Amino acid sequence: MLAVQLGAFPNRINATGVVITMQQALPLAVLLAAIKPVLAAALGASKQSFGVDWWPQQWAQAEERAFEIAVGAVLTQNTRWENVQMALSQLEKAGIINASQVWESPLSALQAAIRPAGFYRIKAGYLKNTARFWLDSGGQAGLAAQSDEDLQRGLSAVKGLGVESVADILLYGFARPVWVVDAYTRRLIDRLGFPEEARWSYHKLAEFLFKATINPHWTPLQQVEQCAYWHGLIVAHAKRYCRKKPLCRQCPLHASRDLPICPSV
Ligand code: SF4
Repeated sequence: MLAVQLGAFPNRINATGVVITMQQALPLAVLLAAIKPVLAAALGASKQSFGVDWWPQQWAQAEERAFEIAVGAVLTQNTRWENVQMALSQLEKAGIINASQVWESPLSALQAAIRPAGFYRIKAGYLKNTARFWLDSGGQAGLAAQSDEDLQRGLSAVKGLGVESVADILLYGFARPVWVVDAYTRRLIDRLGFPEEARWSYHKLAEFLFKATINPHWTPLQQVEQCAYWHGLIVAHAKRYCRKKPLCRQCPLHASRDLPICPSV
């Protein structure tokens, strides 16, 4: 793990009165370790609130939690979570809450139920593909028995499950240690002064972030918890402060005296 000497940056202005930015002061890996406690304190984050249970549960009668997460991961593509909630709720009302029901449901009924999530014709096809894969793999129990690599490879081969959806399912559905890199993650890294890294390919960035934040000597469970914790932190920070139009004056990464100034302020 990277040790961070926060004491090296007690102020955001050096002795000559020049403002020190994060990019000038800290490489990205070290900066991540430095901002973690600052974000956690400002957002009131705990292992419980940002753990693997962070992914919202909608279906009261869900037989397979991981399947609900897979459905949510498909539906949330290119839309807000509020719309996903409406679609999940309509699926539940229509009695379509497991892989068999998704697979056997008439396409028109599936499309009607998920309409609030947008792109409903395409997403209904993606859900059918996911359901077929699920059933062919022995459901949640069969998938849970697979190695990290096999599970990732299998999910990635399903048309409609993109890299971020696969990461959501791996982390929240099957408690596998992977970083979820979403648009919020890229925006934060970009605004902290690392535009090049923010444009890295999904796998390159996810691997970098994993190595920068996860201790290889931790237990698998600790690694999973930390991956989930980071994702929860970044999403919460993006929603509260680092929005499309950022609220920099209120942001803990701007106001903290323990960090060099965010270059995007
Ligand atoms: S100071 Fe502004 S740009 Fe920087 S992380 Fe905070 S909200 Fe985002």
